[in-house]
Amino acid sequence: MNWNLIKSVSVMGISALALSSSIEAKPAKDSKPEVVPGQFIVRLKNGVRARNAEMAISSMLKQTLGVSGILSVESLAMDSRIQKVTIRDAKAATAALQTLRSNPQIRYAEPNYIYRKLVTPNDTDFALQWDMVNTGQADKAGQVGTPGSDIHVSPVWDRGITGSRNMLVAVIDTGVDYNHDDLRDNIYTNPNEIAGDGIDNDNNGIVDDIHGANFVDGGVGTNASMDDNEHGTHCAGTIGAVGNNGVGLVGVNWQVSILPVKFLSAEGSGSSEGAINAIKYATRMGAKVLSNSWGGGPFSEALRDAIQESNDAGALFVAAAGNSANNNDTRPSYPASYSIPNIVSVAATDNKDRIASFSNYGRSSVHVAAPGVNILSTVPGNRYDTFSGTSMACPHVAGMAALLWSENPTMKAVDIKDRLMNTSVPVNGLRTKSAARGRVDMLNAIDNVVPPNPWPADAEFNDFSYALESAHPYVDNLKAPYQVRIPGARFIRVFFEKIDTEAGYDYVAISDASGVEVERISGTMENYMTDFVQGDTLNLKFVTDMSITQWGFKISKLQVVY
Ligand code: CA
Ligand code: CA
Repeated sequence: MNWNLIKSVSVMGISALALSSSIEAKPAKDSKPEVVPGQFIVRLKNGVRARNAEMAISSMLKQTLGVSGILSVESLAMDSRIQKVTIRDAKAATAALQTLRSNPQIRYAEPNYIYRKLVTPNDTDFALQWDMVNTGQADKAGQVGTPGSDIHVSPVWDRGITGSRNMLVAVIDTGVDYNHDDLRDNIYTNPNEIAGDGIDNDNNGIVDDIHGANFVDGGVGTNASMDDNEHGTHCAGTIGAVGNNGVGLVGVNWQVSILPVKFLSAEGSGSSEGAINAIKYATRMGAKVLSNSWGGGPFSEALRDAIQESNDAGALFVAAAGNSANNNDTRPSYPASYSIPNIVSVAATDNKDRIASFSNYGRSSVHVAAPGVNILSTVPGNRYDTFSGTSMACPHVAGMAALLWSENPTMKAVDIKDRLMNTSVPVNGLRTKSAARGRVDMLNAIDNVVPPNPWPADAEFNDFSYALESAHPYVDNLKAPYQVRIPGARFIRVFFEKIDTEAGYDYVAISDASGVEVERISGTMENYMTDFVQGDTLNLKFVTDMSITQWGFKISKLQVVY
């Protein structure tokens, strides 16, 4: 059987899912400045004769705060004309500031802001990397992004957390250009192998495997791990393009050890044999993270066992969910869909936190979602290019796992996976697309911040009178839209007293005002409550195909959260 790499890019014609996106930066939550609670920086006007500025300021504040409300007024160490005021009750800060600012003697009075070092990497094309920092920049296709729709990694870099060469990440793909200026320093070098002596010095089965191995041609593997496609090098750059080296781009990890493991050919395809060899080699070499941007074959017990071995060895197996716009819950996509604890299946998002049009999804079998549309990364020959695909989303998550692990070396693979899922940012448009119900967030993952659940519990829904039913039986070739608007509603869902349609072919689709489809109901069920849409508008569409009609459906009420 054949495995195909999972990307969609027009230039190479390997698979046919082209799309375009854009670039953005800081999330809205960063826009409110951080302050030291209850502290101000105050300066009197120059012309004011204040022999004792501390006394003057205290007396101005007395009326608002009372004498005991002022803890201290002290001069700054390097300039006695500037005072730092500390008040007892930080909640009174706004009123106190107003009091000071309205006093004609005051030149300025402002909060004691908190500053943090801003380590923007000096890599020349960093500003194009919307997946890393989305400022609302347009992507290669001109799509303007939503600021903050990124993996939120820069605050983590700002803390000096930029990865470790001790983290070995296998890129199981078309090979990697290990000579690329922006990768070379982050490519693993096997310390137990003597280059070019024609001997398998470390007895791992591969002769002279200095920078990984190649399992494309069947039989014995070789050390020819150079990328003769572009795909593997692109994935490697997202995981670990050398950061802050004044060249090109930055990876999720500024430093890391990338192990090139090649089993996909120049044409981007490979065999089970190659895949199994590649996974076993990566596991044997001690890779902690295996990045797998490929798929396409059916269930394979042999491949399943190889992944299970990586699981048993404590490694994380990150896999692209697939590019068929398919629901993996109902139609599995391998290797992402094997039921093995260490597999992280990754869907792709664009620069507006929307599911990519090509991306597979699945509210239980796809675990997380990450940027994968118009991603700029490294390609062979010291070049850079923009690709789209769940192939591009996968290495973001592999890189994030490596970065998280580098900071928390005792975590287990399943804990890394759970952390990335639990700390994902909830996004309405992604809610039904993966188990994480949102987009991965590196800062949350590092801090183990689990965002609050913005969605209602069952008990919060109230009945709303509504009736709608199809003809019984219905007719062929329908595409019948209905819209429900309930002013003030925050969430709406639908109760089907009965539905009886040709399973998989005739269905009722439920979507919100922005077109996010939350559910497609088909087949035969009674007393069925759908998933909800967010907002005051619910769109419902009854779609039937060209043959076989059944009884239809009857909706007897809605449920609403105001
Ligand atoms: Ca060897
Ligand atoms: Ca770089």
